[in-house]
Amino acid sequence: MVWSADCLRHEPGGEVWLGVWEAGTEVPERAAVLLDALTSAGARITDAATHSDEALLAVHDAELVTHLATIWADWEAGRYPAEYRRSRVVPYVFPTPGLLAGLPLRSPAAAHGRAGRFCYDTMTLVGPGSWAAIRAAADAALTAADLVASGEPAAYALCRPPGHHVTASAYGGSCYLNNAAIAAQALRRAGADRVAVLDIDAHHGNGTQAIFYHRDDVYYGSLHVDPGAGWFPHYAGYADERGTGDGLGANRNLPLAPGTGDPDWLTAVEGLCTDVRDRGADALVVSLGVDAAAGDPESPLRVTDDAYRRAGELIGALGPVVAVQEGGYDLPSLGRLVVAALSGLLAGAG
Ligand SMILES: [Zn+2]
Repeated sequence: MVWSADCLRHEPGGEVWLGVWEAGTEVPERAAVLLDALTSAGARITDAATHSDEALLAVHDAELVTHLATIWADWEAGRYPAEYRRSRVVPYVFPTPGLLAGLPLRSPAAAHGRAGRFCYDTMTLVGPGSWAAIRAAADAALTAADLVASGEPAAYALCRPPGHHVTASAYGGSCYLNNAAIAAQALRRAGADRVAVLDIDAHHGNGTQAIFYHRDDVYYGSLHVDPGAGWFPHYAGYADERGTGDGLGANRNLPLAPGTGDPDWLTAVEGLCTDVRDRGADALVVSLGVDAAAGDPESPLRVTDDAYRRAGELIGALGPVVAVQEGGYDLPSLGRLVVAALSGLLAGAG
């Protein structure tokens, strides 16, 4: 397990959902609960090592990385907290294709205008410690990739904030940098010819899909609550999204009906594993969200600890694997669920 205490420093302070500032569920306590559960389960803990920006820029636009690194300082310099009582960076205007109508995308002078150029929703807020945590989460994923590239059968990165909703140039969904995509690209650079990303978070990883959509060397497979039934991320995650150009066929979405439980969820996991076996993969990344659990407040899926353990076994048997923490918001069961998945992963790898 790879960990950095800096992951606790991101305090989004809630989220603005449908116009109302709410408490939010992507809280620092998530990481504390996971650290405690993994420590109790006997995980060997490695500190996240600092990596250069090059690894981030291999999947993200430089403008996005610079924005995330600097927006809080700009917000403070603009006296938004002190003078206007805006304690977090929240965007309010978004340069959609309809707004621009073919005009070039400019960088607005005002920080409050600029925020919506990079953030596509109102629930992914930035505060004073956010960048330190965002960077630490990416470093944790990269350190886990280093471990697997140097021969470990499996490594788990306790990433917080999570990452799979971030595209090359836009963040949202409580995610800021795409830790799983950064790890997958690092595995490619370390010599894996074919990498597979399996995303078992309850939500579609639209960011990871977008980053690799045109590529054949990194497969992306996801099972998630059906966006067509009204669920986030709404605009992506449909079964007919199969990749484009060289990447045609290297993308697989298995949307599931709200209320789906263990049997159908595990059948979908098996389907993705069959894809990976058919295509071949030298290394895997699993976007390990446990918010498909029955008790989770963020999704209507009804998966149990036993199914997470079984999913871990199936995925662990496919090859060396970097597990990257994504969602999972029910604090009382979060640790148990992740330990179940990782126990399965180790059993499958052994
Ligand atoms: Zn999720």
